[in-house]
Amino acid sequence: MDPRLSLAVGVSRLSATAIRRLGWGGGTALPGLLASLVDPAALSKLSRQLPAGCVVVAGTNGKTTTARMLATILKQAGHRVVHNRAGSNLVRGITAAIAEQSSLLGRVRGEIAVLEADEAAFPAVVRQTSPRIVLLLNLFRDQLDRYGELDTVARTWGEALTALPAASIVVNVDDPALAALTDQLASRRLTFGLAEQRCALDQLPHAADAAVCRRCGTPLTYRAAFLSHLGDYWCPGCGFERPPLDVAARAIALEGLERLSFEVAALGQQPWRVDIALSGLYNVYNALAAVAAAQALGIAPELIRAGLAATRAAFGRLERVCYRDRSLVIVLIKNPTGLNEVVRMLTSARIEAPLLILINDLDADGRDVSWLWDADLEPLAQTGSPVFTGGIRGADMALRLKYAGFPVERLRVLDDLPGALDAFVSELAPGQTGYILPTYTALLALRRALAERGVAPAFWRQ
Ligand SMILES: [Zn+2]
Repeated sequence: MDPRLSLAVGVSRLSATAIRRLGWGGGTALPGLLASLVDPAALSKLSRQLPAGCVVVAGTNGKTTTARMLATILKQAGHRVVHNRAGSNLVRGITAAIAEQSSLLGRVRGEIAVLEADEAAFPAVVRQTSPRIVLLLNLFRDQLDRYGELDTVARTWGEALTALPAASIVVNVDDPALAALTDQLASRRLTFGLAEQRCALDQLPHAADAAVCRRCGTPLTYRAAFLSHLGDYWCPGCGFERPPLDVAARAIALEGLERLSFEVAALGQQPWRVDIALSGLYNVYNALAAVAAAQALGIAPELIRAGLAATRAAFGRLERVCYRDRSLVIVLIKNPTGLNEVVRMLTSARIEAPLLILINDLDADGRDVSWLWDADLEPLAQTGSPVFTGGIRGADMALRLKYAGFPVERLRVLDDLPGALDAFVSELAPGQTGYILPTYTALLALRRALAERGVAPAFWRQ
């Protein structure tokens, strides 16, 4: 019994309950902050108690979905999982999530934790939790005004990983920056990526950022580019190339917006297929990441397959809600790569439904909206979809679409939320589906507007 830790857990749990009762929000940050004020070692003491250790998931895109998939797989395999589900991925949010699942004596009620960590918080999170597995997804340009250049993030990650020789690093080596970052580490490395030519892009998109060799600075050559700068690459300058894949996805089938499936090819195993109720190539990467981490944890393919089959979309990630007889599909967009992938998914599935794009520029979205100009929106102009824009920077989005050749007669700028939601829904016919693409704070506002209209549950109860 550790009285200080016990007090920290008590303070965290009580304040979380109070915040929710008062309707002030999800209670995911302040409680953890209070806990670490009472006991600065709270997170490391709590995570040390987990008999099967912690898995830390990091990357610019896909953390929430991947962590959720992995947690579902582990639950299907019969484990009690601690998970920071509400997307509170700073040290204080993670502390609050583990405290929430601990007794008032400071004992954690769980066997293993799946923790998603924000890019900037990653070094502190791994220092305090000493993870058994670190799962690295990708590094894209995202909110540069908040994090600084990709190089800075890569350097701090490199330092944090060097200090973790006992961890297994499960890494997407289709990302050349992550491949270079992890190839000299003393820790065990399990690589994953796509072994598939059919999903390749004709050329690197404008938002591809890290397509330069991290060793010698020469632009990389791609045998296949799959998504932004992710692909099968090699360096004509020094010979650096994508390392061999320990776990690969091949025979990928993307079936509209409803399903995807692929074959898992791993060393020493018969190939086996997974099938998931999500879509888009980026979700193939997320699912493959969860598969690779689950294999590193020794979970059998049948249980992994069952866990993925049971995974549902996370908050705002291709989430579908019904409102006034219309179906709304909500897809969070955070950066040009994410926006490109949503456009690719809609156009390749030949979906010509009305779109509402909501762009905010508050701190959590990134203050700088120049990223809209890095996205490849030209394919949208080729479809028949009407597009509505809204949010604080809705007019900037409309301007960007005009420059992408989008016909002005199919473009309309709406007000901010909640007005934009009502205006958009009244443009849809009963039974019709509309797609809403919000940035992060616009997603929160959309969720509030839907909750006020009796539609979606508050996100922290998911
Ligand atoms: Zn090179």
